[in-house]
Amino acid sequence: MAKDGTDTAFVKFDRVQKSYDGETLVVKDLNLDIGKGEFMTMLGPSGSGKTTCLMMLAGFETATFGDILLDGKPINNIPPHKRGIGMVFQNYALFPHMTVGENLSFPLEVRGMGKSERDGKVKRALDMVQMGAFSGRRPAQLSGGQMQRIALARALVFEPELVLMDEPLGALDKNLRERMQFEIKHIHEELGVTVVYVTHDQTEALTMSDRIAVFDDGIIQQLAPPDDLYERPENAFVAAFIGENNTLRGKVTKVDGNYCTVRLDDGSEVQSLKVNVEGEGAKSTLSLRPERVRIDATAENSDNLFEGEVQELIYLGDHIRVRVSLGGNDEFVVKVPNATGERRIKRGEKLKLGWSKEDCRALDPS
Ligand code: ADP
Repeated sequence: MAKDGTDTAFVKFDRVQKSYDGETLVVKDLNLDIGKGEFMTMLGPSGSGKTTCLMMLAGFETATFGDILLDGKPINNIPPHKRGIGMVFQNYALFPHMTVGENLSFPLEVRGMGKSERDGKVKRALDMVQMGAFSGRRPAQLSGGQMQRIALARALVFEPELVLMDEPLGALDKNLRERMQFEIKHIHEELGVTVVYVTHDQTEALTMSDRIAVFDDGIIQQLAPPDDLYERPENAFVAAFIGENNTLRGKVTKVDGNYCTVRLDDGSEVQSLKVNVEGEGAKSTLSLRPERVRIDATAENSDNLFEGEVQELIYLGDHIRVRVSLGGNDEFVVKVPNATGERRIKRGEKLKLGWSKEDCRALDPS
């Protein structure tokens, strides 16, 4: 769905497959609609097929099967430089012998634009990334962060409607990366440009995106806005990949509408949302976020009430991470907000723990 409420996709992957060796499919039937003005992130572990998808959209790789459409038109046979797509990669690829201004002016010159128009656009693009004063410098005289800003300005200078970014902030340190995430998001909002962004960093994806496509093994495992992905993972891979997650393993013993009961390996029973498990007898992995587990008196009256033995405590300022053994899992983590005053949790103590069945998701383990 586009931001203007229409459902014509600006970018469409239609049954796209890719094999490099003619045998293994590294992209296995990709169907993905990206709306105009959307910030879409492809997120997934290394080797899951994200870059391949981006390269096919850019035109540097061809799809083995299926179509890619831009603004309703198939682009399979259009060469990269005629697709009108801006691109930013991790290795900046600025021309070292040209100044910053010349680096930006170059793509416009190639398009046959006159000097005064070029100068105006270069200035505007540099101002956008707060590098207006650096037009006369050469790339070697810039820091990594500055170079990446210039690479961004160069991708935006010809005012493309679509910009592709592949791990553009991967080489920057944490502070700079966070600042640039904010700036890219800001530019995206200001220009209304469509962005397809590739990263393996979930925090980056959650911070920046309108929607995230989580890739694993050449398949989109889930496509959803960030909060949905975190709150409502649809399978065990997504639950484990996005955010911190507790898992408990067992078998479904009862189904009641949208809920089910799962008996854990140690015999205890958990009430849970039934998300993608079959009926009675099916194996299930329960997924539960550490911050959704309550302790002491606040745990009482929960759908699920357990006792866990405290194994380890880590003080993290605003909260305390408490690792407990529960239901056969010694790595069960609870995040306790550091606002409980005098309460001191001790190692070895039996802690009362509770959670709502709404916060617990029964998923297929495979
Ligand atoms: P990601 O971006 O998620 O890390 P890629 O799309 O780069 O994943 O890679 C997906 C799979 O395709 C990997 O197994 C990778 O080794 C393989 N691959 C990527 N590029 C090539 C190539 N040019 N030739 C052969 N295999 C490739």
